[in-house]
Amino acid sequence: MPGLKDYRKKRDFNKTPEPSGEKKSAKKVNRHNPVFIINKHDASNLHYDLRIEINNKLKSWSVPKGPSIDPSEKRLAIQTEDHPLEYADFEGIIPKGNYGAGAVIIWDKGIYRNVQENTTMKESFKKGKIEIDLEGKKLKGKYALIRTGNKKHDKGWIFLKMKDRYADARRNPVSTEPKSVVSGKTIEEIKKSH
Ligand code: MN
Repeated sequence: MPGLKDYRKKRDFNKTPEPSGEKKSAKKVNRHNPVFIINKHDASNLHYDLRIEINNKLKSWSVPKGPSIDPSEKRLAIQTEDHPLEYADFEGIIPKGNYGAGAVIIWDKGIYRNVQENTTMKESFKKGKIEIDLEGKKLKGKYALIRTGNKKHDKGWIFLKMKDRYADARRNPVSTEPKSVVSGKTIEEIKKSH
């Protein structure tokens, strides 16, 4: 798996409050449940970023419309550079002139379980078919991520809810639950507080 080179190349850590991922994280020790997070990111275009811990890094996808809990809604997810694990705690403002400039909140966060038995997450990622059971504050139950191109390096994926008791076509947490699950703030409130 590629490291964090792309991530670091795009950023100047003297100018952005985002983590460099260089310090050895104490969290790596004795932590058994891999994490997922969804950032809401008000950059040049407002979007969501899905990040899933795989092999001590956060595999990342930009999801323009955000997640849906309706299994008939397939959401485009564009793979972006791997992020350091420490990014799971990042919330704040990326200053103007920096990569991804704009406000970031932790829209959802939790742990996940790999649903595909006998397949590691690394293998699932390589195959382009990930199935995970999320235990977040907003998102729960099974979700799939499927690479749409047939080449290993294709960046286009779809992210969708799998059918289970958490699927619900009537609810839309992206519009009804805008606040950070960590600070309780909306993107607008984060902007005002800086
Ligand atoms: Mn983003």
